[in-house]
Amino acid sequence: PATLYIVPTPIGNLEDITTRALKTLESADWIAAEDTRHTQRLLQHFSIKTRTLSLHEHNEEKRAAMLCHRLQDGESVALVSDAGTPLISDPGFVLVRHCREQGIPVVPLPGPCAAITALSGSGLPTDRFIFEGFLPVKSQAKENRLALLTDRHATTVFYEAPRRVIATLKDIQKILGNERNVVIAKELTKAFESIISGRPDDVIQWLEAEPARQKGEFVVMVSPAPEQDTEIPAEALALLKALTEELP
Ligand code: SAM
Repeated sequence: PATLYIVPTPIGNLEDITTRALKTLESADWIAAEDTRHTQRLLQHFSIKTRTLSLHEHNEEKRAAMLCHRLQDGESVALVSDAGTPLISDPGFVLVRHCREQGIPVVPLPGPCAAITALSGSGLPTDRFIFEGFLPVKSQAKENRLALLTDRHATTVFYEAPRRVIATLKDIQKILGNERNVVIAKELTKAFESIISGRPDDVIQWLEAEPARQKGEFVVMVSPAPEQDTEIPAEALALLKALTEELP
């Protein structure tokens, strides 16, 4: 069989496409795109003439089966989404799973991803982080999901729709209090990129100060639960116990 390539595309700035991504898009037999018209604009910009077909949440099962046949027949496929890395809150999971089950080679290319870009510039701890994708829209389910952050010792990263960003920050404030640091990364790689950090009410205030600030694309991040520094680590306790046993 031929290869399925997972090809990240820019999240705003077209200069972020990699040389390898361009070569892969150019040489593939097919480009499977979330929205072919959207991807066509990118391909036109780079004068790439590869045929496209659509693969989105509503036809993914069918298309995945069809693409696996083509791959088995020796045709290579490059998978893209509208922006960033396919499969990261984007279609592609069904296709990749089918390919791997059928022994079709899958080659993921590294490239733009809003979550990782936001995290790296956030100033929040990066040694442990959890990506939560989009929060549930219904308020009870959303609050339940946020409640899981209460004693999570890792930075949490969310994607959020612009019309819900303020409500989500208010929910964070309601459920986790106003002591956590939150960071919003807006319009990454674009002309009006801003990364704003502070307590939830500082960030809400910043957004509410000008309606224009509430437009665009956002990544929302929340700092880890504070470590209980009175808590003695298990290893230290074990060592202490061993030492006291040795003492006369
Ligand atoms: N697959 C994409 C990726 O790798 O980042 C994410 C796709 S998801 C459908 C779209 C969400 O990603 C947006 O609602 C926003 O939360 C985030 N996003 C995408 N581009 C962004 C940008 N330029 N700045 C900030 N957030 C962005």
